[in-house]
Amino acid sequence: MARVMNFNAGPAALPLAALERAQKELIDFAGTGMSVMEHSHRGKAYEAVHNEAIGLVKELYGVPDNYDILLLQGGASQQFATVPMNFLPPGKSADYVLTGVWAQKAYKEAKTLGTPRVAANTERDQRCTRVPKQAELDLDPNAAYVHITTNNTIFGTQWHQIPNTGSVPLVADMSSDIMWRPEDVSKFGMIYAGAQKNLGPSGLVLVILRKDLVAAGRKDIPVIFQYRTHAETNSLYHTPPTFAIYMLRNVLDEVKRAGGLSAMEKLNREKATVLYDALDARADSFTCPVEKDSRSVMNVVFTLKTPELEAEFLAEAQKRGMVGLKGHRLVGGMRASIYNSVPFEAVSSLADFVLNFKK
Ligand SMILES: *Cc1c(COP(=O)(O)O)cnc(C)c1O
Repeated sequence: MARVMNFNAGPAALPLAALERAQKELIDFAGTGMSVMEHSHRGKAYEAVHNEAIGLVKELYGVPDNYDILLLQGGASQQFATVPMNFLPPGKSADYVLTGVWAQKAYKEAKTLGTPRVAANTERDQRCTRVPKQAELDLDPNAAYVHITTNNTIFGTQWHQIPNTGSVPLVADMSSDIMWRPEDVSKFGMIYAGAQKNLGPSGLVLVILRKDLVAAGRKDIPVIFQYRTHAETNSLYHTPPTFAIYMLRNVLDEVKRAGGLSAMEKLNREKATVLYDALDARADSFTCPVEKDSRSVMNVVFTLKTPELEAEFLAEAQKRGMVGLKGHRLVGGMRASIYNSVPFEAVSSLADFVLNFKK
């Protein structure tokens, strides 16, 4: 049975070695006579995996000591609500930068709790084909925080320059590009990401949060939604998604073996370059709607001239073992998600296919 070339947007491709390790360890984890899934989350065997996963995040991302690393549930979508629950008290405002569907959803949740402001919006005039420049951001110096989506998974845009928000904490939904490259984590008050794009399986959310913000969060909301609850218990307040965390450990261990995040960045840039170059070379047939300096290194969005040609492209790709290329229903066309775990060979096969499609 051959593995396909998986361009799914999320859940998405995982490193083969991380899966094979799980397969090998599935029924007898570390000589304990049971699967890691069957262990108590309070036992030593699981605890070691839990701490190794958190340790790998800290080591690979260079997370400073004044940040907590939390492993939570409820998807990135739950963070859309828990961020304002914790950090948007009555009478305060928070700034949201609207660059696509996920940013809009985060903003909507904040509106149910308070009065967020829109600091910039590339939906109205640019139909999400770019992210704003620093100079376009209308930032309120008294905002509780500024929220951005670093990579817009559906529209295929990405912030290549992290905006400067001064002393106002920057909160970033990094669900689809977390750890795609080394990052200066200290630029952020909070980073959150659903694991199922760049880190592991679904069911797990990684949160990296400055300790002073954890401490300043509201205390008059249910304890399960307070970040301090999870920070004070090493994310073991209640049963965590143990198998998903085990897989995060496996995936990050592969990232480390591959040379860490600088190696990831080099690989990701090579993958994006080979694919965008092929699409640009075939501008006779293919269109990339995203402005060049906002092009995502993770989600490559493109179209053909008619729906019939697009259907043909997808069917032909499938025959060649390339799956997951259909664009999001809101945008149409095609989308190749080329996250950390998608091998260069898969992307270069897709690029060759683009170069030769109906020439
Ligand atoms: C996928 C995605 C989400 C939603 O994640 P869930 O874990 O399904 O809630 C949010 N934001 C971004 C940028 C995404 O790519």
